[in-house]
Order: sequence, then structure tokens, then C-alpha cells
Amino acid sequence: MSNDIKNMAMPDEKGYFGEYGGSFIPPVLESILNEITAAYTEISKDPSFHEELNNLYQDYVGRPSPIFYLKNLSEKIGGGKIFLKREDLNHTGAHKINHCLGEALLCKKMGKKKIIAETGAGQHGVALATAAVLVGLECDIYMGEIDIVKEHPNVIRMKILGANVIPVDRGTRTLKDAVDVAFEAYLEDPVNQLYAIGSVVGPHPFPMMVRDFQSVVGREAKKQFQERYGKLPDNLVACVGGGSNAIGLFSAFLEDEDISIFGVEPSGRGFDDGDHAATLTKGSPGVLHGFKSYLLQDENGEPLPVYSVASGLDYPGVGPQHSLLKDIGRVQYVTASDKEAIDALFELSRTEGIIPAIESAHAMAFAEKLAKDLSPDQTILVNLSGRGDKDIDFVVEQYGKDYGL
Ligand SMILES: *Cc1c(COP(=O)(O)O)cnc(C)c1O
Repeated sequence: MSNDIKNMAMPDEKGYFGEYGGSFIPPVLESILNEITAAYTEISKDPSFHEELNNLYQDYVGRPSPIFYLKNLSEKIGGGKIFLKREDLNHTGAHKINHCLGEALLCKKMGKKKIIAETGAGQHGVALATAAVLVGLECDIYMGEIDIVKEHPNVIRMKILGANVIPVDRGTRTLKDAVDVAFEAYLEDPVNQLYAIGSVVGPHPFPMMVRDFQSVVGREAKKQFQERYGKLPDNLVACVGGGSNAIGLFSAFLEDEDISIFGVEPSGRGFDDGDHAATLTKGSPGVLHGFKSYLLQDENGEPLPVYSVASGLDYPGVGPQHSLLKDIGRVQYVTASDKEAIDALFELSRTEGIIPAIESAHAMAFAEKLAKDLSPDQTILVNLSGRGDKDIDFVVEQYGKDYGL
């Protein structure tokens, strides 16, 4: 297995992680994606690019994000010790700024004027609008009309930041239609625009590039944990939507075979079609949005409807490297339900004073279960991918009664 793990450090030249990944795109895009790959390969070898990005991570994002021992919660559970990697403390409140800054710098270095993307809940849109303003790029964010109404505060944030929020009135007027319209807009002018993908998904080089930008999380965590506790954590846990915060943490530890690694997918309301988004747990290999990976699909290869209480986890595909990590058994993919996640959100809030994003609460829900089966000398490091500010109104409205509110 160790050879497989080493080979996974990079996809091959065509962007394959084992049989997953690659680039399934219209011929007109091939030369454009090749250019992006070439530009990225060049800057990734350029020390001045890394210096510029690392300075922004430090002075703008507030990195390194701390590691915090959850003493109250761990003692209450009475098993293994749980630690958080605090990506929730980053500027803009989540891990997404790590790759948005990387993509914005790449866009600028390629001489493009505008960076574009779709957004569902608005988290990727806000992080990208932030990075665009800092680096000096125009920014167009495509968003379904339904989501614009639902996610009003993030729409306002993007507008204050100077981004153009472009309403999409097609189809169900939500994320999938926003992807389609943004993609069409991209095809109209791929020379002056860069499409910034929001996770480790899409055609090569995006799964590799977004992973590389997020890998700062794992590199920091490894060093911090070793320095502070004199050893590495025994277990890693992260939630998996597209899989960027998870691979960001995991990538530094894949070759440490004594460490158990867990990716947590949303089982939503249950495992009937349309009630969950547990792609690796319930899906099968196929092609979507330009890459091959596990997918939730019907018998014709069409993506199934997906659902999770966490809009950031609600995607029928998953990053191709995760598909390989599942197949070779290096990472175990498990699930947490809506209810378990909401319980975990209140538990972390009320034992430690940290309100997590609902996405991150899925990782906490599994970590609490895992801790129960461990002894106090064993450790779990959870990637707390984001803060819960964006979720509080929804949580109180939908679930407040169950928690005395
Ligand atoms: C977007 C988001 C996620 C899911 O994306 P990944 O690419 O799977 O990391 C998880 N947590 C938060 C806070 C998010 O905003």
C-alpha cells in the first residue's frame, strides 16, 4: 500500500488519481485548461509565488490557525482527547479563503482581468469576492434566484465587496443551474476570465491545484501538534462535501500509516435517494462536471438529487483523490445525519463556546462517537472547517425548540 500512497502525492500528468479525475471537457476548452495547468505548474515552482501567498496567509487570513484541545468536551465524553484545527478563525470564517487566494493570484499572474464562479449558499462567492478585491480583479458570481433570497446576508457581503452577483433564473434557480450559466459565461471568454472552482472537483488541474492550496492546513497541523504534544495525532476527522478541507488536512498525513483517517459525509434525513449526499458511501464511479469520481447517479448516469442540512456538503460528486483513497482503504468514509450534526453543533457551542458551521458539525458528530471508543491517551484532530455565524438564524428557526430556544 505504501507505494500507492506515495503515488498519490500527485495526480499523473493527465490529472488521474488511479482511475479517477482526468479531464472530460468540450474540445474548445482543452487548450485553455492546458494553459491553466502550465501556468500553475510554473508558479508552483516559483518561490516568489509561495512567498506572496504565505504572506497573505499570515497577514490577511491570520494563519497559522491554532490547534485547540477540547478539554471540557473530552472530559465529558470520558474517552479519547479531541482537538480542533481552527479554520473557523480565518478571515471570512472558513477554509475556503485558502484556495480562493491561490486561484485569484494565479488568475492575476496569467494576465486575466476577471475571476468568476457559481455559488450556492454564498460561502465560495464571499471568499472569492474577498480574494478578488485584494488581488485587484473583477469578480462575477452566478447565483440561483432562490438562493439569492435564502442567503441574503452573503449576497449583501458580495455586493459590499464590489462583486457582481448575477441572478440565474433558469431551471430550479439553484446551484446546479448557476453552474451551467457560469460555465456558459466562461466559455464566452475563457481568455480574459478564470473560472475558480470552489473545491477539489472539476477537470484537471483543479483537484490538484485546490488541494495544494488547502494543504497548508495539514502542514501547519502536523508541525503544531508535534511541537506541542511531542507526537502526531492518532486520528484525523474532517467533513466531506467536494472534499477540499478534508484533503487539505489529510494530505500531510497520508504516508503516516499509523494514523487513522476519517472523512464524514452527510447522511441527511436517511439513505433514500434524494435524502442524503453520502457520495462515497452510497455512490458508484461515473463522470460529472468534467471529471471521473464516485457519484450519486441513476441507472442512466444522471446525477441524483441530493440533500443535506449543510448546504456546503450537498453535492452529488466528490473530489477524485477521495475516490482513490476510499478504494485503497487509506481513508475510511463514514456518515453523520442532520440530527447528529445539529446535536454536535449545540454540544460544541455549550461545552466549549465555539459555534461551528453545520458542515463542520458533521465532523464533530463523528469525532464524539469515535472518542467514546478510545482511551484518554489517544487523540483525535478534527478540521473545524468554518464558523457557524452564517447558520444561526436557520438553526434557531428550524431546531431551536429542541434545544430550549
Ligand atoms: C464549503 C464548505 C465545506 C465543504 O466543502 P469541502 O470542499 O468539502 O471542504 C465544509 N465546511 C465549510 C465551513 C464550508 O464552507
